[in-house]
Amino acid sequence: FAALEREDPEIAAVLVDEVGRQRDTLQLIASESFTSPAVLAALGSTLANKYAEGYPGQRYYGGCALVDRAEQLAVERAKDLFAAEHVNVQPHSGASANLAAYAALAEPGDVVLAMGLPHGGHLTHGSKANFSGKWFHPIAYRLEPSTEEIDYDEVRDLALAHRPKMIICGATSYPRLIDFARFREIADEVGAYLLVDAAHFIGLVAGRAVPSPVPHADVITATTHKALRGPRGGMIICRGELARRIDKAVFPFAQGGPMMHAVAAKAVAFREAGTPEFRGYANQTVRNARVLTEGLTAEGMRPVTGGTDTHLAVIDLRDLGVTGREAEARCASAGIALNKNPVPYDPERPAVASGVRIGTPSVTSQGMREGEMRQIAQLIGRVVRDGAGTPAGQAVLREAAAEVSGIVGAFPPYPLETE
Ligand code: PLP
Repeated sequence: FAALEREDPEIAAVLVDEVGRQRDTLQLIASESFTSPAVLAALGSTLANKYAEGYPGQRYYGGCALVDRAEQLAVERAKDLFAAEHVNVQPHSGASANLAAYAALAEPGDVVLAMGLPHGGHLTHGSKANFSGKWFHPIAYRLEPSTEEIDYDEVRDLALAHRPKMIICGATSYPRLIDFARFREIADEVGAYLLVDAAHFIGLVAGRAVPSPVPHADVITATTHKALRGPRGGMIICRGELARRIDKAVFPFAQGGPMMHAVAAKAVAFREAGTPEFRGYANQTVRNARVLTEGLTAEGMRPVTGGTDTHLAVIDLRDLGVTGREAEARCASAGIALNKNPVPYDPERPAVASGVRIGTPSVTSQGMREGEMRQIAQLIGRVVRDGAGTPAGQAVLREAAAEVSGIVGAFPPYPLETE
């Protein structure tokens, strides 16, 4: 870091300020967590200098023997962790992993059945703004209006009517467990591939806090930087007979050279995810989400589906008369980072939204538990309800910010020497 400060004080200042932001404010973004210092060390290493197009033992560049070892370790550790037949650790991100999965399993123009974006699906599940909606023919399933859970009968009806080449389950803001066996049955009935996009919950699978999709899916795509606490990046798990197709779809179809520093950091994260400590973290993350959600309910906020089984909840704020955008801004003023989120059948535009999404991987990795979750729920209740632009509202936000400082001050995400 001394070299960076000397060479480029402007960027050094960004890094220092961002450490401060992460340490001094409360991180409730459901797709984030804190990586370990060991993961950061691998990411900031000279492996970033190495080109390694291809796969271990079959590279298009010389000098790859050492990075081969890193990639082999990453693959073997991921196979062990997830009891998987094949793993590709090269995707640069979750979206790149999905591009490769589409390329391996479908042809442009094929029908793909996936959860609609307004109901919690991801852009790569058929949005017109994304390759998935431009190059494929997306059919969207929705949430059942009364339970706000996946309507498996509707998924089956749509599958029978449209005969998709691929069915996708897994979402960005769905708080409940997904019945993978049911999706498998539907996929088998219509001869479709089943792609599970486990980007959000793969860390909980690794920590044995939620059921694994591995026995049911043809292909699983995931990110490594969310609850899994690895570097920013993606991965693909698949059955052995699809291994070659998946590998060719990642390289050379979707990507060029892998980021070997990120691959090494993934190996570190997979090793950490196999420990009892990580299991403790994953299970506590789910318990914390449940307690936080119960606390928010007591504050007059309605959790979509009535609660959560995972690391996240979507909170409908309409009973309070506050939009998601307003709630996000009020929380930000109090030092609480969360994001606005549409609720199912939301009458508001996505840029406004009627709800917020909260997640507990970050605060759990800092060591917070049920007691802090209850305190945070009360804080959010006050901030969202009373933190309006009036002088009284501003006073509420200032008081809340001081309380946030007290909470996060007791749980520093990194020991000082790694900063
Ligand atoms: N799939 C799902 C379900 C996600 O939630 C996300 C990211 O939020 C992605 C894919 C894309 O991951 P990335 O942002 O790494 O491209």
